[in-house]
Amino acid sequence: MSGRKDEDAAAGYLPETLAVRAGTARTQFNEHSEAMYLTSSFVFDDAAQAAARFSGEEEGCVYSRFTNPTVAAFQERLAALEGAEAAVATASGMSAILSLVMAHLKAGDHIVASNSLFGATLQLFNNILSRFGIETTCVSQTDVGAWEAAIRPNTKLFFLETPSNPLTEIADIAALAGIAHARGILVAVDNCFCTPILQRPLDLGADLVVHSATKYLDGQGRVLGGAVVGPRKYTDEVFKFLRTAGPTLSAFNAWVLLKGIETLQIRMQAQSARTLELARWLEAHPRVARVFYPGLPSHPQHELAMRQQTSGGAIVSFEVKGGRAEAWRVVDACRLLSITANLGDVKTTLTHPASTTHGRISPEARAAAGIGEGLLRVAVGLEAVADLQADLDRGLSA
Ligand SMILES: *Cc1c(COP(=O)(O)O)cnc(C)c1O
Repeated sequence: MSGRKDEDAAAGYLPETLAVRAGTARTQFNEHSEAMYLTSSFVFDDAAQAAARFSGEEEGCVYSRFTNPTVAAFQERLAALEGAEAAVATASGMSAILSLVMAHLKAGDHIVASNSLFGATLQLFNNILSRFGIETTCVSQTDVGAWEAAIRPNTKLFFLETPSNPLTEIADIAALAGIAHARGILVAVDNCFCTPILQRPLDLGADLVVHSATKYLDGQGRVLGGAVVGPRKYTDEVFKFLRTAGPTLSAFNAWVLLKGIETLQIRMQAQSARTLELARWLEAHPRVARVFYPGLPSHPQHELAMRQQTSGGAIVSFEVKGGRAEAWRVVDACRLLSITANLGDVKTTLTHPASTTHGRISPEARAAAGIGEGLLRVAVGLEAVADLQADLDRGLSA
């Protein structure tokens, strides 16, 4: 790759500038939009260069399982936004979480995790890692004392996701980092819901951030992707795992994500603003029993949320008066909102967690977790709020 860098991440640009400039490098053609390198391998000038590239003596691309310029540009841009030294891109959010654990833990180690993590993350920890001698204790996201009490001599990792899905419970990142670091425990935060635009966990004391880039980083529901972000001393270990095991992000997906990030700031701000407006409307609706949104003063952790996030985010959940029948009536009356479990899209989505994302959990466990039969989750996109309200009101007021 030749040509000058548009900017240097260390130059101190603001996030909106980094989102469109960080990681940009030009070829000899001086293209303005980033080139996409769809190649599995790279050619060397001679035998000595091939040897130097393989040994790592000379920097440069070798093979796209672990070195690709388009993937590198995505990594650099995301790292700049998180205020991190480095990022390692992966094929999906789940492979980012797997790679983090495989790089930093071994058989006999122990994880303390939030019991309200993304469903597949809990499955990975409880049903797969457990077969390889890594045990997990799940505790309440909001109970700082419970995290401390769950620590064992072999605890190596705190893993949390804030706000949680679908009840938007907030974990106190700084408080948990304080407890963990006193015992030499790493803290990893799944920052999928907020993105670095609304929350920067590393600034609050976390050691590593993981992303499902599939959600807001893409923003338009086109590709899967993920990343582990943090200081090089930690991401280098993740890179070594990825180089060998291969849960690699494709160059094509990296290019789509690179373009997605360019509009991340304005999307997150616009989607959050719409969500706050919708949340206020829901809270005033006579057929709504309760609204879960960190941006509302009625949220039990509103103050903490506003300390570590720059806004409430773009996910709001609410409890319809009645139960499953009333909630399903709202879903079935919608013509605009998409009935899907995905989130982070510019198209608003509507989910009934008790019968979909949380449907495999026993009704008792679901009730204990606070996920009622009348609960609905809206991942707000970019449509006009008035249209979203009219769509929801059709079922609510029926
Ligand atoms: C979707 C999601 C994941 C998993 O990401 P994939 O890209 O689907 O593998 C992890 N964490 C959170 C919070 C998510 O929403």
